Amino acid sequence: MTRFAFFNGAIRPIEEARISVMTHTFNYGTGCFGGLRGYWNADERQLYVFRILDHYRRFLESGKLLLAQLDYSPEDLAAFTLELLRAEGWQEDCYIRPILYKADETIGVRLHDLRDAVTIFSIPMGRYIPAEEGARACVSSWRRVDDTAIPARGKLIGSYVNSALAKSEAVLNGFDEALVLNQDGHLAEGSASNLFVVRNGVLYTPPISSNVLEGITRRSIIQMAREVLGLDVIEREIDRTELYVADEAFLCGTGAQITALASVDHRPVGNGKLGPVTKALRDLYFRVVRGREPRYRHWLTPVFETERTAA
Ligand code: PMP
Repeated sequence: MTRFAFFNGAIRPIEEARISVMTHTFNYGTGCFGGLRGYWNADERQLYVFRILDHYRRFLESGKLLLAQLDYSPEDLAAFTLELLRAEGWQEDCYIRPILYKADETIGVRLHDLRDAVTIFSIPMGRYIPAEEGARACVSSWRRVDDTAIPARGKLIGSYVNSALAKSEAVLNGFDEALVLNQDGHLAEGSASNLFVVRNGVLYTPPISSNVLEGITRRSIIQMAREVLGLDVIEREIDRTELYVADEAFLCGTGAQITALASVDHRPVGNGKLGPVTKALRDLYFRVVRGREPRYRHWLTPVFETERTAA
């Protein structure tokens, strides 16, 4: 159970972390958020936060899209997060949710002349998508928001109505996950995850200019696939029907981790089973996030001060 939040500049009991119904962001969606994971390593009795500074850099960039003015640096936000996690004392995998919001209690849609505030809370979290080894996806009838309307590169609260429309349509139609096309008709991403496709041993992913979130997991996978698996990774537009003939496809994100796609629009992806490239990347990813790959240890921030020895 969550007991604390970072709110109004300090770690406080979660019951005190409340905002008014008149809060600007609650009325207009004029905020942004982040999503980080803490991974529990039971052998080391340590909780590792994955790419904490990179997440907070993107968080502040999302804020920049919203004309946010904050005095916090990524390092400040990371320090608050570690303090929060130490207070919670999670000894299991968890998810961390920072939110930047326009705190004024006022009516009038705009981004300027409003006070910006940050709150952070965390919850225990295992899987976000249950069928990680083989999810059934459909291409949504909803299109991804365009950079000319609401920028997809940032995690803007209002734009998650777009994600929610797609996700609910998919789940209510019996699928696990939605894939969305951008306004040009090319694949963008999942409802809350980036997309990769494997064809003839090459990894493809839509470029950021396809209206996708600048995903931290996406970035990590591109690097690990090149450096460890020696794969070619190409960022280019992907058509819907390329998924129908792909050998493998998967979604990735802080929540989704690496979720293999078993089928798209009722067509099996490859043979419909977890493919070798996706499996290799998943195995690597889970070693990395739990601190078992020295090469990427710098992506992790330990939460607890000293490594506590197992009892
Ligand atoms: N796209 C969208 C729309 C998302 O909400 C997320 C989850 N943050 C992602 C992609 C994956 O991003 P990340 O790897 O940074 O979590």
